[in-house]
Amino acid sequence: MTAPRVEVRLDRIHHNARTLVERLAGLGIGVTGVTKATLGSAEVARELLRAGVTAIGESRIENVEALRRAGISAPITLIRAPMSSQVERVVTSADASLNSEPHVLDLLSVAAQAQGRAHGVVLMVELGDLREGIMPGDLDAMARHVLGLPGLVLRGIGTNLACQSGASPDQQKMDELSALATGMETTLGSTLDVVSGGNSANLDWAFGQPSVGRINDLRLGESILLGREPLRRRPIDGLHLDAFTLVAEVIESKDKPMRPWGEINQTAFGHATQVGVGSDTGARAILALGRQDIDPDGLTPPAGVTILGASSDHLVVHTPSPLAVGGELHFQLDYRALVRAMTSPFVTHEFVGADQGDGIAGP
Ligand SMILES: *Cc1c(COP(=O)(O)O)cnc(C)c1O
Repeated sequence: MTAPRVEVRLDRIHHNARTLVERLAGLGIGVTGVTKATLGSAEVARELLRAGVTAIGESRIENVEALRRAGISAPITLIRAPMSSQVERVVTSADASLNSEPHVLDLLSVAAQAQGRAHGVVLMVELGDLREGIMPGDLDAMARHVLGLPGLVLRGIGTNLACQSGASPDQQKMDELSALATGMETTLGSTLDVVSGGNSANLDWAFGQPSVGRINDLRLGESILLGREPLRRRPIDGLHLDAFTLVAEVIESKDKPMRPWGEINQTAFGHATQVGVGSDTGARAILALGRQDIDPDGLTPPAGVTILGASSDHLVVHTPSPLAVGGELHFQLDYRALVRAMTSPFVTHEFVGADQGDGIAGP
């Protein structure tokens, strides 16, 4: 089998998605399943849809197009604001997009009319994380702008928190979003289908509140894929933390001194931090894995193994006993390592545990 590779347990992703879908359904919240950390994997998207997500969320138009080519016909929302240069592709392949710029909305309208399609628009509102979004005071004017553009359908509003500045979703911010939705409906005289409260960072809020107000959608990626909430990266009760495993191959294995010798200057990636392992010599192994494949800071090695450093193509580890050349080592990944591994052209993906027996037709 080739290495490095990411082994993807689809049955575990299915379990995580279904568990979150069911828990949130009790609160009146639907789930948009976000596939961007998997390079828009159709296998993962199918599993999410079988588990009951209402739509797929993707940040890259290339991934949306790949999902369509793979036969996914369910609704897909582009969750990064469309580029002006890509509006035609967005209208062709995505049912809806998250937006904050009038210029882009104008172009989406022209493209939608030219293609004879209706494109859904969710207006993003800035609530303090200072990434995408319209300032709340400008929301009504922007909504009127959308309502005046043929080919566009105003689906609702949304916000995104805890990604750029760490500003967290809380009751005050979610109440503000609910109030904006209700206020817009009064001033515009139209109903909003979607009030999208945020991402996996909203789960603590959602499960902690007796009432979630108007929020009826969350866009979930990390919590489904890795089983953790991203604010403190605590495991979520009942979810699998190990749906993804990275496997790398040993290309050198030797007993060497633990300390380098000679005059020590910068490494390929700045100054090295010397990792102490409590002995002067030890079993060192080199894995055919590097910064082109993963973020070494986001890897968890097996018990007893210490990561000593990484360059573009080599990951050096200390092990309690010598590893065999040609043997493999398994790592768990956090979100940053997962994203890098899934998007690296050098890392293959192996899907295991596909769910075939639940009798629910795939998309
Ligand atoms: C990435 C992203 C999400 C999903 O975030 P997770 O923390 O992985 O759940 C949701 N919304 C937007 C706009 C995103 O960019």
